[in-house]
Amino acid sequence: MKDKVILVTGANRGIGLNIIQRLNNEGYTVIGTSRTDDGANIISQEINSNGGKGLKMDVTNQESINSAIKNIQDEYGTLYGLVNNAGMTNDNLLMRMTDEQWLSVIETNLTSIYRVTKSIVKDMMKAREGRIVNIGSIVGMMGNAGQSNYSASKSGLLGFTKSLARELSSRNINVNSISPGFIDTDMTKALSDDQIDNLSKNIPLGRIAESSEVSSVVSFLLSDDSSYITGENINVNGGLYM
Ligand code: NDP
Repeated sequence: MKDKVILVTGANRGIGLNIIQRLNNEGYTVIGTSRTDDGANIISQEINSNGGKGLKMDVTNQESINSAIKNIQDEYGTLYGLVNNAGMTNDNLLMRMTDEQWLSVIETNLTSIYRVTKSIVKDMMKAREGRIVNIGSIVGMMGNAGQSNYSASKSGLLGFTKSLARELSSRNINVNSISPGFIDTDMTKALSDDQIDNLSKNIPLGRIAESSEVSSVVSFLLSDDSSYITGENINVNGGLYM
């Protein structure tokens, strides 16, 4: 596993942090990114056992991406896996939404995936093997009032995933997405206990999820067990949207 190098964006907290912990425990060499030096240090402390590390990278900034990817290529060579996890919300009803709210979410959740993936894909194609996993959202399929920007970004991610799966399949690179429902992270901290209780009543499994219930699926999609799956989206939503 150690010769399989995996890059995970937005890995200093939430789902991304859980993903790097799991992949590190499984023996992969993991590189996690954060927007800040402090975040990169947190990551380095978490995942140094197989030679992995944290790196600073802002997924909305091409120069920052270029510099991080060059650092990775120089030290580790070609990536086996990329997990596009970094994401944000900036909610508002459409009639009140500002251009800044729209663009920040599209840039962070969708354009970032184009930028980061494009910067690593040439080497992956040359290696003729690889895995790309994009973290979408249930909202990309069912929509959500107040989240037209977030929902559009995550729907776009599904189309990107399928198109790229078709482009890269002849090079033995599988591209898939995971669409989580409600996961207990900072992103859902704004919900009160009452809101979570009400929400849980509509979830067939009756509860929101832990980050580990997403990272287990990431692990599967990076593993040989999923070798014949590409262009697929896996829902991890407790049955809230089927
Ligand atoms: P968190 O808010 O807990 O963490 C988001 C991560 O993304 C942080 O590491 C953050 O870095 C990083 N990030 C945000 N903007 C940028 C940027 N411009 N460049 C680099 N990194 C950035 O979110 P979650 O862990 O909950 O979410 C992870 C993914 O899962 C996201 O794509 C999200 O849309 C998706 N998701 C989450 C759900 C949930 O219920 N939590 C449900 C469905 C999907 P920093 O610490 O610097 O801000």
